[in-house]
Amino acid sequence: MSNECLYHEINKNHSSQQHSADVAITVAMGDGIGPEITRATLKVLSAAKARIVTESIDIGEQVYLAGHSSGIRQDAWQSLRRTKVFLKGPITTPSGSGYKSLNVTIRKTLGLYANVRPCISYSPYVHTLHPDMDLVIIRENEEDLYAGIEHRQTDEVYQCLKLITRPGCEKIIRYAFEYARNHGRKKVTCMVKDNIMKMTDGLFYKVFQEIGAEYPDILQDRYIIDIGSARLATRPELFDVIVTSNLYGDIISDIAAELSGSIGLAGSANIGEHVAMFEAIHGCAPDIAGQNIANPSGLLLAAVMMLVHIGQADIAQKIHNAWLKTIEDGIHTKDLKSEYTKVLVTTDQFAEAVIARL
Ligand code: NAD
Repeated sequence: MSNECLYHEINKNHSSQQHSADVAITVAMGDGIGPEITRATLKVLSAAKARIVTESIDIGEQVYLAGHSSGIRQDAWQSLRRTKVFLKGPITTPSGSGYKSLNVTIRKTLGLYANVRPCISYSPYVHTLHPDMDLVIIRENEEDLYAGIEHRQTDEVYQCLKLITRPGCEKIIRYAFEYARNHGRKKVTCMVKDNIMKMTDGLFYKVFQEIGAEYPDILQDRYIIDIGSARLATRPELFDVIVTSNLYGDIISDIAAELSGSIGLAGSANIGEHVAMFEAIHGCAPDIAGQNIANPSGLLLAAVMMLVHIGQADIAQKIHNAWLKTIEDGIHTKDLKSEYTKVLVTTDQFAEAVIARL
């Protein structure tokens, strides 16, 4: 149950900060369960002696309520541009027009084009129907229906534009093949709906074939997204690396995380040329906020990816091993409750249990 691949650099261009001085990172606690899981994660990082110094920024609900429709202030942007590394708790996007999704704004403004989402089964310690699942979803993060080009035509007709560009496809597909090669993965699967969206999804698959030709060492296949999602739900072990566009990737990574045992288990990296952001794949879970029962694992595993990214693979490995041991010992938060659970713990107690195993 070890994931050696985890300790390879996520993106070689970004691992220039090496072992000596503390690395500055920007941290946002987020909304809902965000503060609970972020505090737990920071406690573990501190106990593991991660060589970091943190700069705190406020984003999300409080900032929206203070009248900033973007959900973020100038000083927060300055911190992000300065540190170039962001550990982010989940945030609420208020419903209704007038508010932009801050998640989408951050990804687009900082050019975080690749969203890397590993989804792994921790069988036999976490209940799952898919013990052999070990896959990584590489999701295009700036384009597609999330490009934010949405408008009203009439009171009865609204339109959202699906934007797919050749440079965008090239960047994400090359990233996926490079990721596979650098992480010892054997296959890259492209998921598209090019039988219907022949130009947009058609371009994505065409570029996949072109770039794939440069990687004869990596197996390659393609699924139409609907049957691909169905196969993912019933036979996730068929997949290794999946590359897909923004909306499909968002949806299938929630499905994959849930299949592995809980959405609370999966962390993700958002990688750009200059900045990288690390977060859990789930949202701020308002239904359980403030109860100290959320699983902090998604954000903690995102922080493990962050440590690798900033050149602290030694600390990353130490935390990951302690986390695995905690899970193996049956110390579980409520979302993981099953026949394998020996001790049901709160968010804080889970962090303490990880720290005790460092
Ligand atoms: P969600 O992911 O917040 O919650 C879905 C379900 O999973 C809920 O039942 C929740 O209790 C459970 N869950 C999520 N994380 C958990 C954890 N760590 N431990 C235990 N259970 C967990 O999705 P939602 O309810 O659709 O969205 C709530 C809010 O989060 C929305 O405002 C949405 O915009 C926002 N959101 C933010 C991000 C982000 O910041 N990256 C991502 C997705 C959704």
